[in-house]
Amino acid sequence: MEILYKSTRGTGECVTASQAILKGLSDDGGLFVPTQIPVLGIPVEKLASMTYQEIAYEVMSRFLTDFTEDELKACIERAYDSKFDTKEIVPVKKADGAYYLELFHGATIAFKDMALSILPHLLTTSAKKNNVKNEIVILTATSGDTGKAAMAGFADVPGTKIIVFYPKNGVSPVQEKQMVTQKGNNTYVVGITGNFDDAQTGVKKMFNDKNMAEELSNAGYQFSSANSINIGRLVPQIVYYVYAYATLYKNGEIKAGEKINVTVPTGNFGNILAAFYAKNMGLPIEKLICASNENKVLYDFFSTGSYDRNRDFILTTSPSMDILISSNLERLIYRIAGEDADKTREMMNELSKDGKYEITAEMRAQLKDFYGNYATEEETAKIIKKLYEDTGYVIDTHTAVAACVYEKYKTATKDDTKTVIASTASPFKFTRSVMDAIDHKYDAMEDFELIDKLSEIANVKVPNAIEEIRTAPVLHDTVVEVAEMPAIVKKLLNA
Ligand SMILES: *Cc1c(COP(=O)(O)O)cnc(C)c1O
Repeated sequence: MEILYKSTRGTGECVTASQAILKGLSDDGGLFVPTQIPVLGIPVEKLASMTYQEIAYEVMSRFLTDFTEDELKACIERAYDSKFDTKEIVPVKKADGAYYLELFHGATIAFKDMALSILPHLLTTSAKKNNVKNEIVILTATSGDTGKAAMAGFADVPGTKIIVFYPKNGVSPVQEKQMVTQKGNNTYVVGITGNFDDAQTGVKKMFNDKNMAEELSNAGYQFSSANSINIGRLVPQIVYYVYAYATLYKNGEIKAGEKINVTVPTGNFGNILAAFYAKNMGLPIEKLICASNENKVLYDFFSTGSYDRNRDFILTTSPSMDILISSNLERLIYRIAGEDADKTREMMNELSKDGKYEITAEMRAQLKDFYGNYATEEETAKIIKKLYEDTGYVIDTHTAVAACVYEKYKTATKDDTKTVIASTASPFKFTRSVMDAIDHKYDAMEDFELIDKLSEIANVKVPNAIEEIRTAPVLHDTVVEVAEMPAIVKKLLNA
């Protein structure tokens, strides 16, 4: 069965999966959604005997129907290889009655690696399939983490180059060190003398600059983005929920067909939407528990039906969830609006004009699969400490938000369904906040001293991603003014 993709705001024109991956966003500003969610239809007994890569093929081939078997398998083989520090790719760890799905064993020890390790291959394959002759240039502005994960994914992928802009004085020392030590003949990192918004605005301007596009095209290049709304990032994220279910079955934790819950620490709503798609493919998922930090726009949305970004932006210890506009929520809105593009467009226009919109009672009635709640900073720290003291297992701050919301869910509902918690970052990525939560006595330690201490108390080896930056040489030291961004891009590309 062929699956095509249409825009959440569009007039009904459909594109193929590879075209949707190449375009990223639809021309009308909407997000691409599959015309239909395919059925998984594989017995769990069979899934349990498959590797991560084999399950990835079964799931992804049902969505990316214009990819040949060879094309898709080649993408999967190149993505989920020794860049991951475990053969399982995503191990499941049981602690205090919950199942932690460790999505952080890739190159940058956080869950963005799950999608960004395969996106470059999906993108170059899509380019080939659509006779795109130009080399793809990924332009990204980053506030720290996504830029590094994107570079790690695109490094030395033939037919691509990646240029990352970051605010020279606006990222943490560890984040900066991770970026400026990035290897790969096609990676470029440029600091700018401005903040993250300046970097992002500068990148957007280049994307919209028709003259620049023509100059680049003459030199054999075209821009693309590695944005989290690309279906090439969404589809690979469905895989690990299927894998988690198969693993629980294989380990004797659940019976065939038994329902599970999933708890996801949420920012842009991409990860939890992937779980929702997995459920709609037929995976036995009961509740989707959406966990927010103090930027609790989504909790308010689920409890009132009103989405309102007009509020203070709070800096928390789970920075990857400090988000007031969850872009991927548009795909859920479209669905509960009965796939009504006009209605969706209206609401999204209200969001950009007034910063808020309200869904109808009929739409709210379709959110029964979801439960939303949030964790305060204090609660987040407390659960890291408690879980460590009770079980020895150390989780990062984002995962802790989810663990805390799961506790609230259990207290509120008395539901004892087995629950998978998406563990989105290694504790080593947020060592200082994690160690501070466990004991304030660690506050005085230096960064790398603290990392060794975490390794000791958690009895977990320091991940390679961290070990490498201790000694890695700085390979990128370019810093430019905001106004010089287009010039440096042309210079780096010899265009
Ligand atoms: C990006 C990110 C999240 C949020 O995921 P979304 O798909 O944006 O909801 C949570 N935790 C970590 C560590 C992340 O990097």
